[in-house]
Amino acid sequence: MEPTDTDTAPAFDRARFTCPACRELADQVWLNAYASPVNNPDGVPLRIAGAGLEQLARNPQFPPEVRERKVAYWNRVNGGDVFLDRWAPVQTDLFVAGLELSVCRSCLGTAVWLGGRMVYP
Ligand SMILES: [Zn+2]
Repeated sequence: MEPTDTDTAPAFDRARFTCPACRELADQVWLNAYASPVNNPDGVPLRIAGAGLEQLARNPQFPPEVRERKVAYWNRVNGGDVFLDRWAPVQTDLFVAGLELSVCRSCLGTAVWLGGRMVYP
């Protein structure tokens, strides 16, 4: 029997579904979320945009490929993308209850789930 859309739709109780990012039927890795305080002198989440991003794009402290990577990163963040990234290791026992992520094994696209419902993408 051919699978129907409802058989493969993203769902909280499935480890394989049609990825909302790449549209492939793919295995998903489920992740819990932990929290750590924002580490920014202003005490608010860090965003680099506008003039600050232009400054970063010209910052001679970084080699060109590093600058390009940083600018691409901030463009994704500023554009509203949610994705996994390696950052400094943190140690925390602050668990975010009720929030999970699913990550597509095929494209690494990340979905955000609140209360068992996909809210992103
Ligand atoms: Zn995918």
